[in-house]
Amino acid sequence: MIKFKCPCGADTYFDSVNCMSCGRTIGLNPNTWAFEFIKERSHPDIEKSQGRAAICNNGFEYGVCNWIQEPDSQNGLCLACSFNRYIPRLDTQENISRWRVLELAKRRLLFNSLRLNIRWSSGWVLPNGGLLFDFLEDSRTSTEIDPSEFVSTGYSDGVITINLLEADPAQRAAQKTANNEVYRTVLGHMRHESGHYIWDLLHSENSRRESFKHTFGDLEQNYHEALTDFYSNGQSPEWAENYITPYASAHPVEDWAEMWGHFLHIIDGLETAKEHHLIGTDSNQMSMREKLAAWQDLTIKLNEMNRSMGRNDLYPFVICEPVVQKFEYIDELISGL
Ligand SMILES: [Zn+2]
Ligand SMILES: [Zn+2]
Ligand SMILES: [Zn+2]
Repeated sequence: MIKFKCPCGADTYFDSVNCMSCGRTIGLNPNTWAFEFIKERSHPDIEKSQGRAAICNNGFEYGVCNWIQEPDSQNGLCLACSFNRYIPRLDTQENISRWRVLELAKRRLLFNSLRLNIRWSSGWVLPNGGLLFDFLEDSRTSTEIDPSEFVSTGYSDGVITINLLEADPAQRAAQKTANNEVYRTVLGHMRHESGHYIWDLLHSENSRRESFKHTFGDLEQNYHEALTDFYSNGQSPEWAENYITPYASAHPVEDWAEMWGHFLHIIDGLETAKEHHLIGTDSNQMSMREKLAAWQDLTIKLNEMNRSMGRNDLYPFVICEPVVQKFEYIDELISGL
């Protein structure tokens, strides 16, 4: 992530809503990648009508967003919030807090994409090929919902669904333990599921299907059988020789989504490291192998720092040679878009 400044000149952060130096309310313009002053307590409609930066209505009304409205927005939303289809019930402060966690991760995903010159359209603008988000509850977070209605976090047909319970640290930790995972975050979900979406956009070209098959394996493998097999029998014992995570070994499509998620982790991580002078070279100037070498060097140090604080490793993954080649494939694909 790049570093930001308040218009007053002080350092500020991606999720800032106030400047810690001048105290003014600020909002991020995702089109200029810069923060702007927002007039506090003035309704966004008034600000917009006066030609001034207006905060997204989800920020003004619920405090869940710090981006400014798109200039042509009909409903007073920012770029990121315009991708929403279903949001949670907002009758409890707890749900608003959980929603805030999901929105922050979604904004980071979309901002990372903009930095990679990938600008997605929402499903409202582009009914065929656009992206939408559903943030849904089931009976695990709401007693009013029928226990038979189970909401899975996942992707289907242009829609990323995140179960609201992923925004709850205790629930997320329980899921992580149940699945025997070393890493589970809302941002990780967003990045993984966006991999399914981007593959939907890319796979129609035959040439890509061939190169994909060469790198990831046969897409025609029955997805539901493969996943059922993974969940009933577990990963293959040799998963670590070919895959970034056990789950990636379930099916080539899941391998792609896991790899895409990690690609975004690494690109964002290296950008943050460069901006804060932890590495000297801009990762845009590096080959994928150089990026991975820089990442490995950096994460060994950061893992040790985490251990010094009694925390789990920041990046608890090992990148083996077949995985390096998959990263190279993704890097090449993205640079050709
Ligand atoms: Zn300031
Ligand atoms: Zn917004
Ligand atoms: Zn997946």
